[in-house]
Amino acid sequence: MNLNNHSFEDATMKKEIINRTEASKPLLWRGLGRLYPVKTPKWLPVLYPKRVWHMDRGTRTIYLTFDDGPHPKATPFVLDLLKKYDARATFFCIGKNAELYPEIYARIIREGHTVGNHTQQHLNGWKTDTETYLENITEAEKSIKSGLFRPPYGRLKSAQARKLSRFRIIMWDVLSGDFDQTVNAETCLRNVLRHTNNGSIVVFHDSEKAWQNMSNTLPLVLEHFMKEGFSFAAIPA
Ligand SMILES: [Zn+2]
Repeated sequence: MNLNNHSFEDATMKKEIINRTEASKPLLWRGLGRLYPVKTPKWLPVLYPKRVWHMDRGTRTIYLTFDDGPHPKATPFVLDLLKKYDARATFFCIGKNAELYPEIYARIIREGHTVGNHTQQHLNGWKTDTETYLENITEAEKSIKSGLFRPPYGRLKSAQARKLSRFRIIMWDVLSGDFDQTVNAETCLRNVLRHTNNGSIVVFHDSEKAWQNMSNTLPLVLEHFMKEGFSFAAIPA
């Protein structure tokens, strides 16, 4: 289904998707090229208890996060939408993008959102030696001022994590899958509606690759959860 031509007020379409969502089997694993869990499996936080996987489950608050920006088209789109819904979020920026688009970075801060470090060049921790990895994060700190860090691809060696005690390492419990070229916006929407609840940390991307899925999914996610009485907050940095 192409969500492009539907307005947020298209209640019939939304109801149809939600009904189908509730009727369908759990979609825990997605992706053809690389399998990834849409909903973080319970054993991961047990294995890595110091990393943050969700926020307070007692309050009706959702923590949207946007990785890999700032991006000249996607980030302003997200910011405009968040403003419309009086929502706050957290942006895990790549250092080189923050250097390229300092005015967009400044707008994120100015509008009450928080930022986190996502390395200077989006390095994969598993494939990078610890010294190089840590240097890359330090380089990103020149343009990104934050006590939050999210490892690209969620991949971080324990030796690297131990050297990052100055940060809160922010993971997630729901992946929208917007970056996945093999799924469409309807699937992303289903992923998020199905798995998000109190205190969830939800991953989207303000990037070129995720643009199509993110831009079609995010408005419906905001609309849906606002009507359900949730608020959207930034993770304190
Ligand atoms: Zn990333």
